[in-house]
Amino acid sequence: MLWIFASRPINGGIEIRRVGETRGFHPPYGWLCVGLILLLTNNHAAASIPCLPLPEIQQRLGQLARGWHSILAMETGYAPPPSYNVCQLKNGLPFADHQLKRIYIRGLASENDEITLAHEYLHLAFSHHPRGHDEVFIEAMARQLVRVQ
Ligand SMILES: [Zn+2]
Repeated sequence: MLWIFASRPINGGIEIRRVGETRGFHPPYGWLCVGLILLLTNNHAAASIPCLPLPEIQQRLGQLARGWHSILAMETGYAPPPSYNVCQLKNGLPFADHQLKRIYIRGLASENDEITLAHEYLHLAFSHHPRGHDEVFIEAMARQLVRVQ
C-alpha cells in the first residue's frame, strides 16, 4: 500500500511526501482523516461550492490564455476550455473543478498568484488528457508561461 500526501505550500511549489510504502503499514488515524478530507475536497465538495465570480481576474486570464496559446498549441493533450469561470476561494487550497469548468482562487496580487492561476487553468486545458493530472507537468508549465509573458 502506498500513501502519498501532496500539498501546495505558499511559495507555489509542490511538496509531495511519500509517507509509507510497506505492506502492513498502518498510518495513524489522523493521517487517514487528512487523506479522506483531501479525497472529498477533490471529488465532491467542489460541486457544492457556489461560484462568487471574479470578473476582473477572469478577464485577465482570458488575455493571458490568448498569449499562452501559441506555446500550449505545441503540447500534447492541450484543449483550451471554450468557457470557464473564475471564482472566489474563501478558504482551502486553490483548485480547478473539471466538471463545472471553474477555477477557485483567492486573488491575483503577486507572481505566485499568477502561477497559481496558470496552474489551475492548465488543469482545465489538459483535463481530457492524463497530463491534466500530472502535477509536476502542470506546475512546470505554469511557471514557464508566467515567465514568458
Ligand atoms: Zn494542481
